[in-house]
Amino acid sequence: MKIAFFDAKPYDKLSFDEQAAQHGVTFKYFETKLNEDTVDLAHGFDGVCVFVNDTVNAAVIDRLCEMNVRIVALRCAGFNNVDMKYAFGKLHVFRVPAYSPYAVAEHTMALLLTSIRRIHKAYIRTKDFNFSLSGLTGFDLHGKTVGVIGTGRIGRVFIDICRGFGMRVLAYDKFPAAGLDNGDTVKYVPLDTLLCHSDIISLHCPLTEETHHIIDEAALEQCKRGVVILNTSRGALVDAEALLAGIKSRKVGAACLDVYEEESDLFFEDNSGHILEDDTLARLISMPNVIVTSHQAFLTEEALANIAETTVNNLVQFRETQQCPNELCYRCGTTEDCKDGKCF
Ligand code: NAD
Repeated sequence: MKIAFFDAKPYDKLSFDEQAAQHGVTFKYFETKLNEDTVDLAHGFDGVCVFVNDTVNAAVIDRLCEMNVRIVALRCAGFNNVDMKYAFGKLHVFRVPAYSPYAVAEHTMALLLTSIRRIHKAYIRTKDFNFSLSGLTGFDLHGKTVGVIGTGRIGRVFIDICRGFGMRVLAYDKFPAAGLDNGDTVKYVPLDTLLCHSDIISLHCPLTEETHHIIDEAALEQCKRGVVILNTSRGALVDAEALLAGIKSRKVGAACLDVYEEESDLFFEDNSGHILEDDTLARLISMPNVIVTSHQAFLTEEALANIAETTVNNLVQFRETQQCPNELCYRCGTTEDCKDGKCF
């Protein structure tokens, strides 16, 4: 089985080559992202393996079909970059539904602590032998209220971590998880209530039409003054312009972003020698109370190993049985409603 692997990084090759060798799958690594201009590189392959910023739109799907490339193996959980509706009946799309939710949840807490205890500032100061504490006053997390939007795998691990810090949790989910609300330290509430009462808001829901800009000007308007916004999920959950305005007006006390709406041409690459064209991102990064990491929350040894193992298993299972439990269906968005796994 020959797979064209797009947006390949050195750390991908290490984990994928180990798995591929054991299972008779061959990966050809391309550093470029998959899009309309690069799709022809997949000619002669059985499938493509793609990540969060590769583009699988109608034009790419049509060209893949013309070349008889019928498999799209996502090596991530989110699939907002695939036109699932258009892919229906044309391609088999697999994903990695879960890989170390701890990686993302722990990174979210790392960002929060870094921000509110000003570790990013202190690190630079002490490197310069500046041992002044002026301007480094933080606040305790203990006793604060955190609003968690999306209580799936990652959201629930983040909630556990927050409870360890003695925080109160207000949760919002379109499909609440049974047994999570204990009527005391963790409560499901409507989104408006979460927005009004949270000191910190963390996003852990997928990007869909419904959740696009779930944090926008109107949402920020409802928030407490000084609210801390955490986004380690998908960039377009937050309206970046509205966030910037909220920071300028002091409504937003801090923001920690591992994802950004327009990240696809910037993140994962060294742009240090270039002039950043995106004024909103440049302005956000320039703020003392904004921390940006470049979609790194997943990047742990454990998560990379899980991703490679599940992706290769998806391919091998499909090769051997023409079915894969992690095949996506555009109707349900996950495989859960497709009991027979036949979304094709
Ligand atoms: P999950 O599917 O286990 O959980 C998502 C939760 O969101 C579910 O409980 C679902 O019911 C809920 N949800 C769906 N639609 C909603 C809506 N309209 N409003 C509120 N809640 C809604 O997914 P997960 O594994 O916890 O991952 C969450 C997200 O994290 C992914 O969608 C992905 O975008 C992001 N992610 C980011 C990274 C990273 O490196 N930064 C890595 C992995 C995943």
